[in-house]
Amino acid sequence: MYNKILVAVDLSKDAQKIIDTAVRMAGNDAGKLTLVHVVEPVAAAYSMDIYAVNINELQQEAINMAEQRLEKIGKDMGISSDRVHTLLGAPASEIRSMASEIAADAIVMGSHGHSGWKILLGSTAIKVLHGATCDVLTVHVGSD
Ligand code: AMP
Repeated sequence: MYNKILVAVDLSKDAQKIIDTAVRMAGNDAGKLTLVHVVEPVAAAYSMDIYAVNINELQQEAINMAEQRLEKIGKDMGISSDRVHTLLGAPASEIRSMASEIAADAIVMGSHGHSGWKILLGSTAIKVLHGATCDVLTVHVGSD
């Protein structure tokens, strides 16, 4: 049984399955969960020329949208808003830092996310695993 579980979600359709697994690991106590989603810096996410648009505005809009979606997920699951975090940065390192900050005893995340093929190059889960100081559980998602 785990007492403080950090659940990393990329807001894809599989988020619910990942959270449901975390709830079971917490003995059906959603109060033991903390949710995190990391928004990647816009300039890092796109290598094309985007100087024509206001990057700060675009970034803020991406953060706001992610915040709203994560808050709704948290609310639906009965997770209090102070345990729902939308961060900006590199997903794996932010997830690991958050886990240390809250002294999580487990991190739960999906085996695949938006970019399922990325597993070949090193998925977020693999990156989190390297250097994690607590248990990391990957929930099998996807059709394969
Ligand atoms: P991926 O590396 O895209 O295949 O994603 C694998 C899993 O890592 C997802 O199912 C999520 O649990 C987690 N993940 C990926 N990207 C993020 C992100 N930006 N914020 C939080 N968790 C993420």
